Amino acid sequence: MDEMKKTLLYEPKNGYDRLDAAERMALEDYCRGYMDYLSAARTEREAVAEAVKLAEKAGFTDVESLTGPIRPGQKVYWSNRGKALLLAVGGKKPMSAGFVVEAAHVDAPRLDLKQLPLFEDTELGYLRTHYYGGIKKYQWTAIPLEIHGVAALKDGSTVEIVIGRDPADPQFVITDLLPHLAQDQMQKTLAKGVEGEKLCILAGSVPYAGEGDGRVKLAVMSLLNDRYGITEEDLISAELEAVPAFEVRELGLDRSLIGGYGQDDRVCAYAELAAILETENPERTAVCILADKEEIGSYGVTGMTSQAFEWFVEKLCGGTCTLQESFAHSFCVSADVTAALDPMYPEVSEKQNAARLNYGVGFCKFTGSRGKSGASDASAELVGYLRRLCDEGGVAWQMCELGKVDQGGGGTVALDMAMRNIDTIDAGVPVLSMHSPFETTAKFDCYMTYKCMKAAYNARG
Ligand code: MN
Ligand code: MN
Repeated sequence: MDEMKKTLLYEPKNGYDRLDAAERMALEDYCRGYMDYLSAARTEREAVAEAVKLAEKAGFTDVESLTGPIRPGQKVYWSNRGKALLLAVGGKKPMSAGFVVEAAHVDAPRLDLKQLPLFEDTELGYLRTHYYGGIKKYQWTAIPLEIHGVAALKDGSTVEIVIGRDPADPQFVITDLLPHLAQDQMQKTLAKGVEGEKLCILAGSVPYAGEGDGRVKLAVMSLLNDRYGITEEDLISAELEAVPAFEVRELGLDRSLIGGYGQDDRVCAYAELAAILETENPERTAVCILADKEEIGSYGVTGMTSQAFEWFVEKLCGGTCTLQESFAHSFCVSADVTAALDPMYPEVSEKQNAARLNYGVGFCKFTGSRGKSGASDASAELVGYLRRLCDEGGVAWQMCELGKVDQGGGGTVALDMAMRNIDTIDAGVPVLSMHSPFETTAKFDCYMTYKCMKAAYNARG
């Protein structure tokens, strides 16, 4: 009967039961690189800037220098306004044979400063915020925050602003009520306990010397002016993001987990990036996308619905074929994280089809919610193809669904890629505490996602 069981039944395995010593070292090595990247990339702009540094070191040049179609082995990149990045390595086959594209996103939930953020109340200085992406607001109070971004000046120059990353810098906080006086607050739902307009960042308390109102606001503005030469009006054309100030750390006594902010989806972004930087002579052209704006619907010029993608692929085609021809023969891995089964909250998942930590890269045939609404739903053939790729490449993988059928759901850029007539499937790292200020992943799954990305780029067919 055991033999029969082995042949007929599908039995997923814990990844550590199949890992040898050599591969364990490779896994640790890869995760160190990822943790360094995540530490340096606190915003989408920084994620792009760090990726460009790595790409240039690996011999990638600006796509603007491309004359004619991309040549076999040629490596190019394009930074879309510093907030999204596209990279490509020329394949042996022409662009008319299609390309292999992997699409992750580098934006993450956060608190954006409003355009007129600064105010004073009861002689304390504050910065107003408008949250970006799906957050549980109560998680963002009483934790250390940093502010990163740019201010664009009227003369066309931009000032880069980073406060709180350097250990010598001050940091910020959004205060919360003490439990002693939270009787009313504690009766509210988690959704209403902390309101959006109350997510104001404490920015200073010392008044400017002299008399009159608004002296703390003036003092805070004066400090910003000392540091960056900007005025309150310059903040109107600034993009400033308050992000958690936690360090990226190994978690668990066995150090098998990674804790850090922004792992959705920089964990997959780094996996594709590491994979394409090591791709030399693929059969079909390899394309890597680090997209922006996924967390707010992929709209905007740096989001995945933007024609910026068409512009880039047209450059790669160099007039040798139409975009439609190239798209029709392409294959896309929409590389985004999925929810890991949380044993503390098993009620939201259906165990048999939920992703588990340490079981490898998670394939999602579909995303969406309640009746697959809004899903791209990859074909059986495509799932079969990815199974083969991963098995041949020694990649541990698992098939998964985000949560229980009626519980909710989510989406990725898979829709936007499929809309272009590109065969698309979701695959990525299972995450615990997704969208929180400190997300958890398993090193094994991070590493296997990288191996999956590599296997896709290096596919023979
Ligand atoms: Mn995501
Ligand atoms: Mn997300």
